[in-house]
Amino acid sequence: MTGLDDPALAAARSSVAEHARRLVADRLVAGTAGNLSVRVGDLVAVTASGVAYDTMTADDVCVVDLAGAPVVGTLRPTSELPLHLLCYARHGASAVVHTHSAAAVALSLVRDDVPLVHYQTAIFGGGVSVAEYAPYGTDELAENTSAALADRTAAVMRHHGTIVLGSSLRAAYDGAAHLEWLCDVWLRASAVGTPRLLDADQVADVVERLRGYGQR
Ligand code: 13P
Ligand code: ZN
Repeated sequence: MTGLDDPALAAARSSVAEHARRLVADRLVAGTAGNLSVRVGDLVAVTASGVAYDTMTADDVCVVDLAGAPVVGTLRPTSELPLHLLCYARHGASAVVHTHSAAAVALSLVRDDVPLVHYQTAIFGGGVSVAEYAPYGTDELAENTSAALADRTAAVMRHHGTIVLGSSLRAAYDGAAHLEWLCDVWLRASAVGTPRLLDADQVADVVERLRGYGQR
């Protein structure tokens, strides 16, 4: 059991608040749209619903258990809590970032997947799908998004935004920034011509290569 006095939980709440502020600064959300969470043992630190991110502090960050029952805080957790909890229960996430970023939403209006414009698609485990629309905050949206995630760590949500899973909040956040960049590259290329694309085998090759990427 994770104790409420666990320093890791306090650090997680600070980190959620910090990354929430970055969501606005990096234009991955507007206003109070989007949300994020990180798992600490059998608890989840998650943004509160409808609370402005630019002034958010650790004390504003809710803590719930893996079934969504409130553990810390008086604020209501995000309306997308069903989606976050499903990412932990079904997809093995350690952190979840949900954006309303513009290029991803634009792409979702015309595509069922994110075209393979760049090898970095491989950071998500391969090609990223677009989840079918359902109203925000519903179990139906959580299920549609989970189906699109399948064995990937990201999905675009039609008429809505993106969801990105990570082994840490930083990894999920960086993934969300990358996904938006990929969608933006495709939009830019599509505006001036028909983009050439990688094939699935080329991306699968990079999925393997990335296992050895960076510092050992
Ligand atoms: P919350 O403010 O409840 O997190 O809702 C924002 C959102 O993105 C809903 O999809
Ligand atoms: Zn949303």
